[in-house]
Amino acid sequence: MTAYQILSRLQADEPDIAPPTVYRTLSALTDQGRAHRLESIKAFVPCRCSHQDSVPVLAICDDCGAVDEHDGSAILPELTNLTDRNDFRAARHIVEIRGQCGRCAA
Ligand SMILES: [Zn+2]
Repeated sequence: MTAYQILSRLQADEPDIAPPTVYRTLSALTDQGRAHRLESIKAFVPCRCSHQDSVPVLAICDDCGAVDEHDGSAILPELTNLTDRNDFRAARHIVEIRGQCGRCAA
C-alpha cells in the first residue's frame, strides 16, 4: 500500500490522523526492518521474514500488486563483491523484481 492508501484507510476510523503521523510511523517501521519501502512503486509492505545480514528480495506483480518476499541471503556475498570493487559502503540492500505473479500469469 502507498502511504496515501494507508492514511485514507486509517482515517475511516480515526478522521483526525494526519499525514505526518503515517509518514513518521512508516519511517520508524522501515528503520527497524519491520516494513520495506518498495522504491519502484513508492509503496510499503510489512516484512515477512527475518533477514539480518541478508537481502530482502521482493517480487512485485505488475498486474495485481501482490508482493512476495524472499530471503536473498545467498546473493549477499555477490552483491558485496560488486560494491567492494569501488569501496562502496552499502547501508542496506533491497532487490525488487517486477513481473507477474503465478496467479496472474496463469
Ligand atoms: Zn498478480
